[in-house]
Amino acid sequence: MPTSAGGPRVLLRQLREVMAEPESTQIRLDKITVLIAANMVAEVCSVYLLRAGHQLELFSTEGLNPDSVHKASLGVGEGLVGKIAADAKPLNTSDAQSHPSFAYLPETGEEDYQSFLGVPVLRGGYAIGVLVVQNRVARHYSDEEVEALQTTAMVLAEMVGSDAMLVASEDIDDDIAHIKSHHIRGVALAGGIALGHVVLHEPRVVVTNIIAEDIAHEHERLDKGTGELRDSIDRMLSRLDPSRGGEHREVLEAYRMFAHDRGWLSKMHEAVTTGLTAEAAVERVQNDNRARLMRQKDPYIRERLHDFDDLANRLLRILSGRAATAAAEEIPEDAVIVARNMGPAELLDYDRDRVRGLILEDGSPTSHVTIVARALDIPLVGSGERVVDLVDPDDPIIADGDSGEVYIRPSSDVEEAYSDKVRFRARRQAQYAALRGSPAVTTDGHRIRLSVNAGLLVDLPHLEEAGADGIGLFRTELQFMIASAFPRMREQTSLYRSVLEAAGDKPVVFRSLDIGSDKVLPYLKHVKEENPAMGWRAIRMSLDRPALFRLQMRALLRAAGGKPMRVMFPMVAEVDEFRRARALVDHECAFLRKHGHTLPSEIHLGVMFEVPSLMWQLDELLTLVDFVSVGSNDLQQFFYASDRGHPRLAGRYDALSTPMLRFLRDIASAANKAGVPVNLCGEMAGRPIDAMALIGVGFRSISMTPAAIGPVKEMIMALSVESITETVELLLRESHHTIRPQLVDFAQKHNISF
Ligand code: PEP
Ligand code: MG
Repeated sequence: MPTSAGGPRVLLRQLREVMAEPESTQIRLDKITVLIAANMVAEVCSVYLLRAGHQLELFSTEGLNPDSVHKASLGVGEGLVGKIAADAKPLNTSDAQSHPSFAYLPETGEEDYQSFLGVPVLRGGYAIGVLVVQNRVARHYSDEEVEALQTTAMVLAEMVGSDAMLVASEDIDDDIAHIKSHHIRGVALAGGIALGHVVLHEPRVVVTNIIAEDIAHEHERLDKGTGELRDSIDRMLSRLDPSRGGEHREVLEAYRMFAHDRGWLSKMHEAVTTGLTAEAAVERVQNDNRARLMRQKDPYIRERLHDFDDLANRLLRILSGRAATAAAEEIPEDAVIVARNMGPAELLDYDRDRVRGLILEDGSPTSHVTIVARALDIPLVGSGERVVDLVDPDDPIIADGDSGEVYIRPSSDVEEAYSDKVRFRARRQAQYAALRGSPAVTTDGHRIRLSVNAGLLVDLPHLEEAGADGIGLFRTELQFMIASAFPRMREQTSLYRSVLEAAGDKPVVFRSLDIGSDKVLPYLKHVKEENPAMGWRAIRMSLDRPALFRLQMRALLRAAGGKPMRVMFPMVAEVDEFRRARALVDHECAFLRKHGHTLPSEIHLGVMFEVPSLMWQLDELLTLVDFVSVGSNDLQQFFYASDRGHPRLAGRYDALSTPMLRFLRDIASAANKAGVPVNLCGEMAGRPIDAMALIGVGFRSISMTPAAIGPVKEMIMALSVESITETVELLLRESHHTIRPQLVDFAQKHNISF
């Protein structure tokens, strides 16, 4: 097998000389392709660069037909070159023409070459071009050659990215892209509207110094930099404000673990050994990681890899002497943060009072940053394709967390329409705030209990702000989901204690771990299931692996320290599951008593009604439980056999359909008859029209997202229980796909806002 002539270090030195020449980009590119071809003993070396419109144009070649330069081009995803750009990873084959992705470009004359090695020219994890070498004979390029070509591609990325000549020769589309308005349709991840100015989360660190002058010195710098990175994480951990939440600590601890990862460090040192500076080595390894990350299907692995990516950025900033992130700098009062992705700790780093919204290129409903954004009430749009590339700092921008729309540099009419919306919402918020101290009582004197759903420490201030009656659902799994390892008992107890303290005299209902289904713990071995929502989850897992459940129960019982404690179990499908769960709690009580711990003054154990089978066990169940809470999100999905997360099924069946409401009515009436408190804590409780229907079928206690308390309370204060009950009863006599329009009618007639 032929070997490189001179190896990567020699090539890098030669490239540096070419780059220092006062020549045009084209001439330098042409010299570079010649050098690479010679160094790698290749007959062909070509550079393709991405032009506006997603075309990869042949910019320079040594070996292919020179007339095809600036003429031959391939779309991203088209041919081998397009595939490399689309996958952002190298492609190495000894028989190019048999490759399934091969596309023939007759003008280049490349049919003579069998072997093909191409690597992406990456900037910020995205391919902006492709660098290719080809040989006539069939040969497989070695790993060292792939590495060397990747390193060379970095030099090219820098040259192309910073060269004014090239920009001038580009289609002007790209320049215009940064002036004109853009509309992006993303995914709504956290509700609300943000109107403000762009803050780029990670002010780009442009690595300009790629080729090392003194390799030993670069190794030293890398070691010093990683040492500083570790110290800075330790400092952040020690400075952590306890009121900022345990979740912040857990994320930082994961960072600390990654910062000590030997594999990561040794890869960077290897890159330095090939002739790169410390910064370039970090970027090189980060590019690889990022390309890998983008190909991962499993969102949980992506999430962890993102943490790695973030860590590399921190290191890059240390090495280049730049400030940490935008969070550490003064940001405008109407900041809309724009990022490819972000960890939850990074969002918590920002001054909440200045952040109006968040837009991510990535992001998913279950990602940790989404959970935290919702808890902080920050509108969030995810899947905002190319948003980072399309914005400049300080650009006016609108993020609509209700619809998923993003408007970059919006036109004045869009801006006005949104300003109206925001003003309207602000007025409404002020009205809701005025209701904070008043109880939710209907016009005919019925008191309705309104509680909030929570799951993180950052949620707790909402309880007071919203003027809620308590926490109707505390989702304990969120602490587990954002941690890097199982939270220890001490950590669990401390969170539960803080929750109880924040709630004061108001009741808190803790739900035992509801993991499985979409709530996967990254550190727990994840068994692939055909139907995870109906799989080994929630109480099933707790009963089969009682150690985890018992530990949690012990933490809860200890946290109560003499106060009342309320716990409910998710996804109970038969009475016996409740009995077994209760027996485990009894066992923990006996253990704590034996060891002299203070037990809660009262223990209330309940079930979540999420599985329809409970309907036909209700009589017996109601003699055993202290309360019932209907989890209408899951109940509806099982009632209608309709996946709650499936975008095509969203809205197909309505919770306000006759069968669903009859079902809910029967649960409420059985519980009311038995004198067992019943609550409903699914999303529907937070929608005024739905909440009105729930009151109509007999619910007097509902629990919802904190932002919904105001609108729901306002609706209740204008509602007569008698007339809504009568109206709903009448409507339920006939079959309806939904009674929503009739209820909207009712609300309008009775001057009820919704
Ligand atoms: C529900 O299923 O309605 C519920 C409240 O629980 P979760 O949304 O956490 O599954
Ligand atoms: Mg549920």
